[in-house]
Amino acid sequence: MKKALVTGASGGIGQAVAQRLCRDGYRVVLSCFHSAKAAERLCAQLNAERNGCAEVARADVSDFAQTEAMFRAAGDLDLLVNNAGIAQQKLFTDLTEEDWQRMLGVDVTGVFHCCRFALPAMIRRKSGRIINISSMWGQVGASCEVHYSAAKAAVIGLTKALAKEVGPSGITVNCIAPGVIATPMNDALGPETMRELAEETPLCRIGTPEDIAAAVSFLASPDAGFITGQVLGVNGGFVI
Ligand code: NAD
Repeated sequence: MKKALVTGASGGIGQAVAQRLCRDGYRVVLSCFHSAKAAERLCAQLNAERNGCAEVARADVSDFAQTEAMFRAAGDLDLLVNNAGIAQQKLFTDLTEEDWQRMLGVDVTGVFHCCRFALPAMIRRKSGRIINISSMWGQVGASCEVHYSAAKAAVIGLTKALAKEVGPSGITVNCIAPGVIATPMNDALGPETMRELAEETPLCRIGTPEDIAAAVSFLASPDAGFITGQVLGVNGGFVI
């Protein structure tokens, strides 16, 4: 059975991705940090559907040692989905050094750590898939989210460069840039802003975690075997 590790698997998109990959036949390591209880609940639900398809692991992906220990325990992987992330809305001139370091630490260094620890085994086996979850704001920039936009743009750069480096080892590295997705990350925006964002979206709705999970499933599938270094926008046409 192929094995995948999904970071941020207790969050909105991560849960849907983990669920989809289990249904696609993967054994999935649900990597969580803050909400171990939510990950345990999902794990129990997935194992009830197909025994042994899910397990929980815990690490702060911004922490080198914790992430290394998690990957050592997880063993060789066929697929890594770098989904864990944080967001924050703040005027640029109000950003503190701590805000900046925390954002880059989770959203960029976290991706570096996970790729760094997953890749040696993938390179040895000459196969593997890495899918990084960036954001449309990493493509076009968002006002009051400069540090988030910078971090997500860095993930796009990392994806492209790494795809070139590990392509000869039979590994693909791609990126998904979601638009506005209905998850706890957007709870702070409130219903009125969410309605306005839906109106601004050509497909006239907010995305669902399942929309992102479907894109992950495709990029992980044999049909995507010749696709690498790409940024797949899943945004209802918000950014074209
Ligand atoms: P969410 O807040 O529901 O989930 C985020 C997950 O990341 C949580 O499980 C959280 O525990 C985990 N996480 C945070 N810090 C961590 C750390 N230091 N170590 C390990 N895990 C950590 O948000 P979501 O909407 O599901 O976001 C998932 C990904 O999608 C993020 O990378 C986010 O930037 C990206 N994204 C989301 C949207 C959106 O509109 N929701 C849009 C574009 C991109």
